[in-house]
Amino acid sequence: MDVGIVHALPQADVEACTGLPDETLLAYLYTLADDAERRAGRVPEGDTAAVLCRSCGPVYLHPSIAAVLPVVNGWPRALGCPWCFIPKDGRMSIPRPNVTCGTCTHFIPDKINPQGGAGSCKLGITPKRTPLPFTAQYCGRYRPLNRNTENTP
Ligand code: SF4
Ligand SMILES: [Zn+2]
Repeated sequence: MDVGIVHALPQADVEACTGLPDETLLAYLYTLADDAERRAGRVPEGDTAAVLCRSCGPVYLHPSIAAVLPVVNGWPRALGCPWCFIPKDGRMSIPRPNVTCGTCTHFIPDKINPQGGAGSCKLGITPKRTPLPFTAQYCGRYRPLNRNTENTP
């Protein structure tokens, strides 16, 4: 890892590490390195599971975390996540899993062609890609539809 991350630690944090077992220190170093990756707008290596964080929306976390979360409407749900600590000015660049507007609770389908026409977003978001029901998007406001319901025009 970048040793600069360790050298930048406040003295109090370094002193708090005194006497900790090697395994704990190693876990701490991994946490610091992962945090640095997220702050740089990159997904830490191995964080391959798509999870829905209550604050952040769709994010990538480690599969071992996703495995212990409750799954609702196809998404492991977290009340908070490590991406929650990314400062506001860096949140737009969070790399996110693909979603589709058509499966989002905020989507308003096209009136004439609900299955294939361009719809709109109840939140007023204009996604980078045309909001067709099936177009892949990267959207932090995505919230999956209840699988037993459908959006109506
Ligand atoms: S733009 Fe985002 S919030 Fe709006 S419908 Fe699409 S996925 Fe949902
Ligand atoms: Zn989060």
